[in-house]
Amino acid sequence: MRYADAHADTFYRVATEGLDPLQREGGLHVNVPRMRDVGQVLQVCSVFTPKHYQAAPARDFADRIIDAIDCSLEANAATFAPVRTRRDLAGLNGRLGLIPWLEGASPLCGSLELLGAFFQRGVRGIGLTHNHANEVADGCGVAEPRRGLSTFGRDLVGRMNQLGVAVDCAHLPQPAFDEVMALAKAPPCISHTGCRALVNITRNADDAMLRAIADRGGIVGIDFYPGHLKAGAGDAGGPPVNCQDVADHVQHAVAVCGRDHVAIGGDFDGFADTCTDLRHVGDMGNLESALHSRGMAETVIEAVFSGNLLRYLGEVLPA
Ligand SMILES: [Zn+2]
Repeated sequence: MRYADAHADTFYRVATEGLDPLQREGGLHVNVPRMRDVGQVLQVCSVFTPKHYQAAPARDFADRIIDAIDCSLEANAATFAPVRTRRDLAGLNGRLGLIPWLEGASPLCGSLELLGAFFQRGVRGIGLTHNHANEVADGCGVAEPRRGLSTFGRDLVGRMNQLGVAVDCAHLPQPAFDEVMALAKAPPCISHTGCRALVNITRNADDAMLRAIADRGGIVGIDFYPGHLKAGAGDAGGPPVNCQDVADHVQHAVAVCGRDHVAIGGDFDGFADTCTDLRHVGDMGNLESALHSRGMAETVIEAVFSGNLLRYLGEVLPA
């Protein structure tokens, strides 16, 4: 099975903990030997900036993570390949494609010029918010997010659409989400989420959001964060979570969005307490088996595991 993933914090950990993505037992959920084990072809690399970095320090922190990605690309040119264009995507030839992708727009400091600078550095997607408020909008962790997009946020979405930078609505609550749907001139996405119909938290996408993304040709990536997948999980003493729970969310998303609009954005390396049988990317076969056991067709599993994300990027990235 071929695998392409829409969200992992692996290079955040490479940059901050000095871990080595080439080592199987080096502590990373996503590493080259395990990517190879499961036929992985592409990884979207989250460039996450913690809340306490705002303005210039957020920009500098994002640069640090992109430096770590560039460093791996340069040192391992036969293993990794940068994906900045549709042509890059089509020309991987067995190398693992890496795409830097901001998680939260804080590093842009409210500046379209900085969008240009990060585009030059290879950023091809931006999650508009994380949980907190930033220059674009309130995040989904804000108790009562009233504000839609800021003026900068509206300008940013327009410019991202022009450049070929994916507009990622993970962590983005209503009403800003609806505003992005109204503005979008290119297919938007939710790179990593659970389904709110199954676990009712504001971080998860409700059915109307799932449909809105599918209606615009976008994709929704299901993540593996236990707290998104089962009520009460992720808390101390919460219930264990496994691939059957992930499969529930994948099946629900496919039922709502259709088979062409669901992907995986596992969020590996973004949390420590994983699903019991999805400890790292090498366990993806367990999810494949769980989906098979429910009678999901091979072609649908293939679309969810890689085809839909690759198709989406082929439409959104610059030529
Ligand atoms: Zn996230």
